[in-house]
Amino acid sequence: MTKRVVSPLRAVKEVTGAKDRSIAIQRLVASIRTLAKDRGYRVGVTESPYEPRVYARMLGAVDIAEDADMLVAGAIVFHGTDPVIHLNPKSGSRVQQRFTLAHEVAHLAIWYTQKQIDPSYRPRRARGKRTDQLCHEIAAELLVPQDELRQEWQDLSAKVGIRGRKLQIIEQVARQYDVSLQMAAVRFREICAPSTGIGMLQGETCRFLWSIGIRSHAELATKFVNGLATARESESAAESYGFLTYCLNREGLHIIPFSWHRLHGSHYLVVEEG
Ligand SMILES: [Zn+2]
Repeated sequence: MTKRVVSPLRAVKEVTGAKDRSIAIQRLVASIRTLAKDRGYRVGVTESPYEPRVYARMLGAVDIAEDADMLVAGAIVFHGTDPVIHLNPKSGSRVQQRFTLAHEVAHLAIWYTQKQIDPSYRPRRARGKRTDQLCHEIAAELLVPQDELRQEWQDLSAKVGIRGRKLQIIEQVARQYDVSLQMAAVRFREICAPSTGIGMLQGETCRFLWSIGIRSHAELATKFVNGLATARESESAAESYGFLTYCLNREGLHIIPFSWHRLHGSHYLVVEEG
């Protein structure tokens, strides 16, 4: 019998019985969580923040080693047939390294599905943009599960309304799930508010350090920073969350077209309503 070579995505879809990519990923992560619970793991499994280390061990990683000399943020290295996850402690912040670890766990999870289809399957060094994209999506689901976030968003919307609360929620997601603000923003946008633009703005340079869904970067950044300056002059700037920032000065009513929250230094987390 000839062996079937099954691509990562096909393996995940086949094992989970889902045709849709996103559902397949959700089911894969749910099954890994169930497996962890069945094996008695609790911390980092039954409630957020979810701990990729637990899943790494469960899916066969014999060790998680730090390697400051590696050229990438993370990789799986085989010691004989044993996979060892290597992480670069110099690459990114603590929460970014958590995401890197979750990404490597996703590679293990994919191999786990491929082995279910072909028990003789031998994992090798994973390469390829497509596989890495899939691993990113699995990692995101592992750290911030889609259904959970959507449910929290719906509960909050029903209870208190969502107007002016997007920034608070993004910060809350980052804290609750122990992920970076950027990852919280990406997840929030894709699951809760697809038409919202979100970015981290460096106020002194008028530059976005990162942004998703914001349409005209340069123009909006300048508008925001100028608006803030105007607000300060007229002493009506709100140094906290707000839906839109209004301020009245000699020229009339000025509106900063973002809700924003000031972070450390002159960094702002900003939201543009779509
Ligand atoms: Zn990878």
